[in-house]
Amino acid sequence: HYEDYHPTKQLSVNWKNGQNVPFLFLAKAFQEIEQYSGRIKTTEILGNCFRSILAKSPQSLISPDYFGIELGIGEQILQKAVSKSIGRNLNFVRKEYDKKGDLGLVVQATRSNQMFLVRPRPLTINDVFSKLHKIAECHGSNSQEKKISMIVSLLVNSRECESKFIIRILQTKLRIGLAETTVLIALGHALYLNEKYYQKKKNLKRKINSEILDKYGTTVKKNYHKYPNYDMLFELAQKYGIDNLTEKTKFTPGIPVKPMLAKPTTGVKEVLDRLEGYQLICEYKYDGERAQIHFLENGDLKVFSRNSEDITQKYPDLVKFIPNSRKDSVTSFVLDSECVAIDPKTGNLRPFQVLSTRAKKDVQIEDISVDVCLFAFDLMYLNGESLLDKSLEYRRKKLYESFNEIENKFTFAKGMQTKDLTEIGTFFKKALEAGTEGLMVKRLDKDAYYQPSKRTFSWLKLKKDYLKELSDTLDLVPIGAYIGRGKRTGGYGGYLLACYDEDSEVYQAICKIGTGFSDENLEKFTKFFESKTISRPLPYYQVSTDLSKQPDIWLEPAVVWEVSAADLSLSPNYYAAYGLAHPKQGISLRFPRFKRVRDDKDPEDATNSDQVLEFFEKQTLHK
Ligand code: ATP
Repeated sequence: HYEDYHPTKQLSVNWKNGQNVPFLFLAKAFQEIEQYSGRIKTTEILGNCFRSILAKSPQSLISPDYFGIELGIGEQILQKAVSKSIGRNLNFVRKEYDKKGDLGLVVQATRSNQMFLVRPRPLTINDVFSKLHKIAECHGSNSQEKKISMIVSLLVNSRECESKFIIRILQTKLRIGLAETTVLIALGHALYLNEKYYQKKKNLKRKINSEILDKYGTTVKKNYHKYPNYDMLFELAQKYGIDNLTEKTKFTPGIPVKPMLAKPTTGVKEVLDRLEGYQLICEYKYDGERAQIHFLENGDLKVFSRNSEDITQKYPDLVKFIPNSRKDSVTSFVLDSECVAIDPKTGNLRPFQVLSTRAKKDVQIEDISVDVCLFAFDLMYLNGESLLDKSLEYRRKKLYESFNEIENKFTFAKGMQTKDLTEIGTFFKKALEAGTEGLMVKRLDKDAYYQPSKRTFSWLKLKKDYLKELSDTLDLVPIGAYIGRGKRTGGYGGYLLACYDEDSEVYQAICKIGTGFSDENLEKFTKFFESKTISRPLPYYQVSTDLSKQPDIWLEPAVVWEVSAADLSLSPNYYAAYGLAHPKQGISLRFPRFKRVRDDKDPEDATNSDQVLEFFEKQTLHK
């Protein structure tokens, strides 16, 4: 129904061409999307809103992930800001919050009952965006107070449902059931429809064809993964037309691509079954930190983490020696690699725990206490040319041709090309003896291009864990804590963990955990969560309503922990992958054990519910 829906009329918010878009238009669109659950409908609503904005006031305002902009707003700050903005005390705010379950609704309901001497000035999207920027830039003394007053100024100017979404944006969770993929596809639809029909006043009715829409949705999605910057993509599409977007979107050194990911497997046999008919390369799976290394033509070197954060400051040693490893002919490159702690005398690999003791900011070369070696396993860009669409076989060839190894500093990941079950088994053993986590097995020739952010059967991981437990660990978010007893008195003794459901933007409780923690960790975590406790589960937590099954303390989602487990089971008390394996039950972990903190993942990168379901199904198959 693209043709029948006119958002400015339907949402009854209009504005003059070329003027800033009222924030109420966006807020009402969110409200509308919240009411529907189907992907098709939400894509269409959003696609139409994009079309109105594109046609009337083309602009784009979204900071890419790799700028590292963090709002840094906790629940406490928000509650204080709400209290100030409505002129009621904190107790009132908390009581109303308990009743309504949404802080934004507390503002909306209270304000609609208040009389105003001065009508609030209507907010525009630009107003809200620039305020958010200022909030993110606010550091140092008094920053809390300053942040609160900026939030208050947004809230007192808000109308209708705006406050609800301002609060949710500040919580960095919209909770309207809108995954980023849908946003990208809707943008593709809007760009296409506007360019081809809308602006030319051609009749849309007979022209809309879902296959074509899909094609353009996918175009935007794919280009975003290779160039994750909405502003730039939008500009390119406007300037050159949607049909030329792929050609004009150049994977660019300095802008991180989303890394390609691997699927877990349960053993060599499964690997071979999955990859039958393909040429394979088996590589050591090093246990360090993923590092995407960008070398720019101007001689700059940047290091990006798994979640596209700029971590160059952490690795001044890489900045110094990596450029020396390239051959003279190399003027720019992007490498995919694992940065691993090593013993500089023997070259022996050291466990990830050692790397995690390395400082993260303003590291000076003279102060480095943990030496690292970079193990390069892929080359995505070379001398002005993207290699993303080339096969791994080609990319590896270029990698080997373009660099020289530097002992204990820069090495190619150890690999072996084979399809033989026994040979892979022996190589796997060797990998474990060398102190790695196991093997990565990758397609070399067919379907072997670099797929940013994709987790497919092109890359499989074979970990030592599969011998005794699950085939892989899970990365989970603590959302609640239990008061320690006995030896653990005085701190938290256990935690409630959750996985993340991307579609509904909800953390789903998966298990309680109490083992695997050192005393030192228990103490450290208790301290860490001191400023992150909240009085009630957040509206985007899916947890048991039975009070006896709830934790003593609720926590904000703030960190990701890697956890192993014996197996997964269906459970009426937990909500991971709820309804997917059983209509009225979720999935829970049995005998979970804490392994380590995952600094390179944000809470939203935690294991998602589809992955939990996959683990569960695979295990059932196995049994
Ligand atoms: P995710 O699959 O979501 O990244 P994860 O980070 O827990 O989860 P791992 O089980 O650690 O994934 O496996 C993938 C990681 O292995 C890569 O992100 C990379 O950091 C690391 N790695 C080590 N050696 C290699 C290699 N030779 N090729 C590719 N990745 C490797």
